[in-house]
Amino acid sequence: MDQGNNFQAVRDVLKAAHFAAERHSAQRRKGTAAEPYINHLLEVAELVSGALAEPDTNLVIAALLHDTVEDVGVTKQELDQTFGTDVANLVMEVTDDKSLPKRERKRLQVLNAPKKPVRAQVIKLADKISNLRAILASPPADWSVRQRLEYIEWAKEVVDALSAPDQGLKAEFDRLYDKAGSLHKLGRP
Ligand code: ZN
Repeated sequence: MDQGNNFQAVRDVLKAAHFAAERHSAQRRKGTAAEPYINHLLEVAELVSGALAEPDTNLVIAALLHDTVEDVGVTKQELDQTFGTDVANLVMEVTDDKSLPKRERKRLQVLNAPKKPVRAQVIKLADKISNLRAILASPPADWSVRQRLEYIEWAKEVVDALSAPDQGLKAEFDRLYDKAGSLHKLGRP
């Protein structure tokens, strides 16, 4: 095993983690716990790295950076220059077009899910797992049960539309979805 190459991968991942921590430093998760946003990014990156059968450092880096364009105005060009074209392209594959209304962005996520490259689908699925966990553990204070349920159902639509979901991650998503089933009882009028 080549220790030198391994260590370069560690450096690259940490560079991305540091970049993400800095750029998202003012951002908190929506839930009442208001965790630092980097918690979400580290969780998604860990889920992605755990799912991979073969090492894919760029995919772990893209997972750390997956919300930088959408949430904190980083450009594709900056990602390209700092982390390379492969990482920049992966991030763009999981970035919504913020010029569109929210409803349309949500519709497009379902529509486009099956067309996404397999690697982008891994990030998508890990992202939805992290968000579902957050909604179950610490829902936003201003979200009604109905809003939570709507989010969960939409997330399931996106995940079910993926053409090549990682099976381990899919199982984790489905487990959380079943757990969220108890919310339905609360949501009934
Ligand atoms: Zn995310």
